[in-house]
Amino acid sequence: MQHQFTTNISKQMQAITANGYSVIFNVEGYKELNKQISENNYSTIFIIVDSNTNEVCLPKLLPIIETESPIEIIEFDAGEINKTIETCIQIWNVLTELRADRKSLIINLGGGVVTDLGGFVASTFKRGIDFINIPTTLLAMVDASIGGKTGIDLGNLKNQIGVINNPNLVIIDSGFLATLPQTEMRSGLAEILKHGLIFDLSYWKQFLDLSKLDFADFDSIIFDSIKIKNEIVMQDPMEKGIRKALNFGHTLGHAIESYFMDNPTKKSLLHGEAIAIGMILESYISMLKNLISKEEYLEIKSTIKSIFEDVIFDKSDIQSILDLLIHDKKNENGKINFVLLDGIGKFIINQGVDNELIISSFEDYKL
Ligand code: NAD
Ligand code: ZN
Repeated sequence: MQHQFTTNISKQMQAITANGYSVIFNVEGYKELNKQISENNYSTIFIIVDSNTNEVCLPKLLPIIETESPIEIIEFDAGEINKTIETCIQIWNVLTELRADRKSLIINLGGGVVTDLGGFVASTFKRGIDFINIPTTLLAMVDASIGGKTGIDLGNLKNQIGVINNPNLVIIDSGFLATLPQTEMRSGLAEILKHGLIFDLSYWKQFLDLSKLDFADFDSIIFDSIKIKNEIVMQDPMEKGIRKALNFGHTLGHAIESYFMDNPTKKSLLHGEAIAIGMILESYISMLKNLISKEEYLEIKSTIKSIFEDVIFDKSDIQSILDLLIHDKKNENGKINFVLLDGIGKFIINQGVDNELIISSFEDYKL
C-alpha cells in the first residue's frame, strides 16, 4: 500500500532570505503580502490561477488581501500542456485590456505551471512588473516557486523559453496541500528527495522508511528543502556552476517527461514521476563511474521505487529518449552534461556520459 501523506501546520517557521526577496511562512507571509501591497500602492492586483487553484485556493486567499486597489483574476486551464506562449499571449492581452501598468502586481497562485508561466508573463510584460509567488503544490513550494527561474515549454521541449527573474516575495502556506491529490504530493516528494541526495545525507536518510517519517511535521520538511535549494541558488543564481546540481535526475528525467508528454500511446507522467526515474538512472550511472557504491545505489533505487510506480520502457522508447537528450538546455557544445552523485549528499557537475551507460541504466531500472 502506498503511503498516505497528511499535513499539519505545527511549527512557526523563520523567514528564509533569498536573492532580493524572502520566503515567508503562513500568517507571517500574508502579513508581509499586505505590507508590500500597501507600501507599493499597486494600481491593480492581478491574481493568476489555473482552473483548479481558482476553485480550491483562491477562496482562501481573497479574504486575506487588504487593499483598496482593484483585484482582477486571470484564469487559464490547468495542466503542463498549457504552459505555452499561447497562454502567455492571452494573459498579456487581458493585462493590456485591463490597463495593467508598471505599477501593477501579479500574484501567482498555483503549482509550478502557474508560478513558471505567471513569473514569465510578469517578467516580460512592459519589460517586467512585480510578482509574488504563492505556491499551492508541494513541488512548487520546495522547488518551482524558489530561485527565480520562470518560463514556458516550446512544443515538447520543456522550459525551452524563459528568463531568470526573482519574485518580490514567496509565501509558503502548507494548508493549501489539504486538497492536493496524493499523486501530486508524490511528485513534489521527488524534488525533496533530490535535495537530500545532492546536498544532505541526513535529510535523505529520513525518507528511507516512510512509515517512520513524521508527516505531521511536514512544514519542517518543506522548510529544510527550501533551505537547501536556496543555499545552492544563492551561490550561483545564473547557473554557471553549482546550481547545475539541482538538475540531478533532470537530464534523463526531462527527456522522459517530454517523450511521454508527446506520445499519445503513453500515459503522461507528472514532472516528479519523471524526475524520480531520472534520479534512479543517473544514480546508476554514478555507480558505474565509481562515484557511489552499489549499496548506495540500491538504497536510492529501492527508496524511490517504494514511492513511485514502475514505468515500462521498450527499446524504441529508450532510443527516442536518447534523441530528445540532444535538445536538453544543459548541453554545451553538443556534449550532454550530467550531474552525478559523488556519494549521497554530494554531487559532481559537468560529467560526460556515453550512450551505452545510459542504455544500461534503463536496463537496470527494469530489474
Ligand atoms: P501543476 O502546476 O500542473 O500542478 C499540478 C496539479 O495540481 C494541477 O492540476 C493544478 O491545477 C493542481 N493544483 C495546484 N494546487 C492545488 C491544490 N492546492 N489543490 C488541488 N489541486 C491543486 O504542476 P506542479 O507539479 O506544481 O509543477 C510542475 C511544473 O513546475 C513543471 O512545469 C516544471 O517544469 C516546473 N518546475 C519549475 C521549476 C523552477 O525552478 N522554475 C522547478 C521545478 C519544476
Ligand atoms: Zn524538477
